[in-house]
Amino acid sequence: MQDQRPTIVIAGGGTAGWMVAAAFARFLGTTHRLRLVESDEIGTIGVGEATIPQIRLFKEALGMDEDALLKATDGTFKLGIEFVGWREPGHRYMHAFGGVGRDVGLIAFQHYWLRARKMGVARSLDAYALNEIAALKGKMHRGGPLTARAIPDMPYAYHFDASLFARMLRAFAEAQGVERNEGRILGVELDEGGDVAALALDGERRIEGDLFIDCTGFRALLIEQALQTGFEDWSHWLPCDRALAVPSSRTEPLLPYTRATARAAGWQWRIPLQHRTGNGLVYCSAHIADDEAAQTLVANLDGAPIADTRPLRFTTGKRRLGWNRNVIAMGLSSGFLEPLESTSIHLIQSAISRLLQLLPARAISDADRREYNRQTDFEMERVRDFLILHYALNRRAEPFWQACRTMALPDTLTHKLELFAANGRIVREHEELFTEVGWLQVLIGQGAEPQGYHPLADAIEAGELAEYMRTIEALYAREADAMPRHEDFIARFCAAQNPAVAA
Ligand SMILES: Cc1cc2nc3c(=O)[nH]c(=O)nc-3n(C[C@H](O)[C@H](O)[C@H](O)COP(=O)(O)OP(=O)(O)OC[C@H]3O[C@@H](n4cnc5c(N)ncnc54)[C@H](O)[C@@H]3O)c2cc1C
Repeated sequence: MQDQRPTIVIAGGGTAGWMVAAAFARFLGTTHRLRLVESDEIGTIGVGEATIPQIRLFKEALGMDEDALLKATDGTFKLGIEFVGWREPGHRYMHAFGGVGRDVGLIAFQHYWLRARKMGVARSLDAYALNEIAALKGKMHRGGPLTARAIPDMPYAYHFDASLFARMLRAFAEAQGVERNEGRILGVELDEGGDVAALALDGERRIEGDLFIDCTGFRALLIEQALQTGFEDWSHWLPCDRALAVPSSRTEPLLPYTRATARAAGWQWRIPLQHRTGNGLVYCSAHIADDEAAQTLVANLDGAPIADTRPLRFTTGKRRLGWNRNVIAMGLSSGFLEPLESTSIHLIQSAISRLLQLLPARAISDADRREYNRQTDFEMERVRDFLILHYALNRRAEPFWQACRTMALPDTLTHKLELFAANGRIVREHEELFTEVGWLQVLIGQGAEPQGYHPLADAIEAGELAEYMRTIEALYAREADAMPRHEDFIARFCAAQNPAVAA
């Protein structure tokens, strides 16, 4: 009997394609027919290895076990991102997940900290961030406080091997009924109204559908090549346009954080996995030649390279419409923001949940589509601003960094900077991804200095404030000391058992 269910076709089987397939299988498996097309010949980007804590919601929505996921993907835990040399050479700070200090009543912690710093009784911000204290000691813990009830949660994310993650999602999706079609998409057929009707595959096969998810990566076969949606170029704000990626041997100790180190014309990432380290250099081709970039990367590895260096090219920006006609772009086909804050996989995840919320019946409503695009644009623009912040406030001497320091900023970012500069205020709008404390750590880390602070921070007596600061610092340091070492934690709960990876 013919399948009467609406058909959703997922074009592409990289991280995006298989994340969509797995999530849709979980939530739409009975109401929709789900078909995925990918080509082994073309392959995937596969370098997305660092995530943010929201990934745990995705794993939970699929009902996946955390330890099993880390075992299967060579994974480690991630407590934050360390930025080395971004303000100036020799300087470091961390954007650690989780809180900083503790708010008092209505007033955010940073106001008390700013006052205490003026009084000379505050340490640097990192002494009050549990995630950072634990990360720098190489510790990991989950499941609530160890030493005192007043200890906050320690949110964490994962580092994992992206191809093993995609493999795991594929097994999940296929087991739930997603039909995988191996083959090259040779053409995209439009109907007379201009919507996509079918994908033409090699071997004269046709894959028809009602809704199409474009996960074909930078090629953007449906959203751009077929529908010519257009691209909003943001390279005047985020000018890096190339990357080189190379894995190296594992180094000790196994650090529970990503490191991003500023270099003369870009920055280098370091992602510790159980059996290897993922590395790459993101750079601006107007300021450094490819061979010099390759030398910089290889000269700054912590371990020996274990594969050839892989070049990648990109333009930062976003598709003018994330949802155009009956095509929704997810993953690299929807746009690209450099991996400085590990946001790409998260943007796939949030696109999936947005589409599930606004899922069309057989006929697509314009209002649904507009709302999807509004939310997508808002999210991308705010992430973009957060990334620009890391570049804009630098004090480095190289021409690339000088150019970043003097560029005109988006109005939305200028507003945030002015608000913080006046009285240390940070306002997070409704659907914004990064929290106030995320902004705080990067603003202070990059050297922003507010002139004042909230007047209510003066309400507390000076001695009490100093004591408050000391207590938080001591409590968090004691808590981190009580945690197990990250590598022992991994060995106990989620040691990778994939011999192919270990080899
Ligand atoms: C340098 C760099 C570093 C990154 N680091 C991170 C990070 O740390 N964290 C993070 O969250 N993200 C990171 N990302 C982003 C992350 O890699 C991507 O978001 C993620 O891999 C999703 O890619 P994709 O699935 O959209 O595209 P791809 O991996 O390119 O997959 C495209 C798919 O489409 C298929 N396809 C294409 N054309 C055809 C055709 N004609 N016929 C059939 N199939 C076709 C391919 O076979 C493939 O399956 C990084 C990206 C780059 C460039």
